[in-house]
Amino acid sequence: MTKQTKKVFLLGASGSIGQNTIDCIRYLNKSQESPFFYELVGVSIYSNFDFLTKIESQLSADSSLKSIAICDKNSLSAFQKKNKKINLYNNLAEAIRETDFDLLINAVVGSAGLEPTVVAFQKGCDVALANKETLIIAGKLIKDLVVKNNCSLFPIDSEHSALFFLIKNILKEEKNYKQNLINRVIITASGGPFWNNKIENPSVEQALKHPSWKMGSKITIDSATMMNKGFEVIEAHYFFDLPFKKIETIIHPQSLIHSIVETIDGEQYAQIGSNDMRHPIQNALTYPFLCGNPLKKFNLWQHEKLTFYPPNHQKFPLLELAYQVGKKGQLYCTVMNAANEIAVSLFLQKKISFQEIYKIVSKEVNNFEKKKQGKENLKDILNLDKEVKEKLIRDFR
Ligand code: NDP
Ligand code: MG
Repeated sequence: MTKQTKKVFLLGASGSIGQNTIDCIRYLNKSQESPFFYELVGVSIYSNFDFLTKIESQLSADSSLKSIAICDKNSLSAFQKKNKKINLYNNLAEAIRETDFDLLINAVVGSAGLEPTVVAFQKGCDVALANKETLIIAGKLIKDLVVKNNCSLFPIDSEHSALFFLIKNILKEEKNYKQNLINRVIITASGGPFWNNKIENPSVEQALKHPSWKMGSKITIDSATMMNKGFEVIEAHYFFDLPFKKIETIIHPQSLIHSIVETIDGEQYAQIGSNDMRHPIQNALTYPFLCGNPLKKFNLWQHEKLTFYPPNHQKFPLLELAYQVGKKGQLYCTVMNAANEIAVSLFLQKKISFQEIYKIVSKEVNNFEKKKQGKENLKDILNLDKEVKEKLIRDFR
């Protein structure tokens, strides 16, 4: 079979999703089944120099690599000295603008993912989005760009990947009909390390011990507070054009059912499989085709029981806040995300307690209620994100 070439730009290559993506690309490029051959034309890191040095020889051996974006200035100048052949950038959006590619895999963490995503769509490229913050702070803008530029947006989040495939397969392409046929979607949540125990004041180390997924530190803390599940509710709202009343969450500690769709006849369709992010990543890479993979075979009989519990909104107020904020509108989501990014970073630096994350985020959302200013365009969203972050950084200096 002749493979079609797909040029890929991978943002956040050194992270958990980034490295899993490189794994998937390596496998697919060798696989006879893969309909595509992936040329990695660009990668980005923030400052993880070890990662670049580790893969440097591989990268320069790979003649397809054209661009590297390094966000941290010091790391960039250190790398600049050694590399003459590859275009180096200090800015993600600029790297995306100037590099020729077909598919952007956005696996950076935080609101830094928004601008390069916007540029990719403006260029008419498809995007596979792990960077959920992009949809939280600018969901409507992103969806409008997808339609306007006739592009595709693929989810790299286990729950949304499950919903994406369930909705496509159960309801086919009947777009306008789709929302009416869905009673509700149920997003599963592991519950993080604290859902069933009482730890008054968890330490950073305790909060970083996720029971079922191995991920970057920011999303691991978001899982412990359940802000992550709140984000996923908002993500689903924009991704699938569903009202919040049709989006529910359920605690499922084994993380084997990735999400459920209930149709109007009351039937529920669930997607089930191992908790390995390489599944949703590979599906986004090969879409609309399915392809074999080298991952461990999943056997239901090896899992003694699957359990489910309703989420406790009192214990995890950030989940409840996300519903309220999502219903209030886009700019509220921008504020919630910005405050959460800073609060999580302060917690990871041991400057605030675990409980203070909620206090900081809810306070910023309430303060915004009083002034409510700005439009839902890129410039105002980026300004608001910056303003909230800078204020909090000043407050906690
Ligand atoms: P990691 O922390 O493991 O990786 C983050 C990546 O982004 C790294 O390459 C890092 O570079 C880079 N980065 C960090 N800060 C910035 C910045 N300010 N500007 C540009 N680049 C930056 O995160 P994950 O891979 O776990 O998560 C990435 C995204 O995917 C997040 O939005 C997360 O919510 C989402 N996601 C992750 C899942 C997972 O299983 N990990 C599951 C579903 C969604 P460097 O290494 O140099 O610091
Ligand atoms: Mg998820």
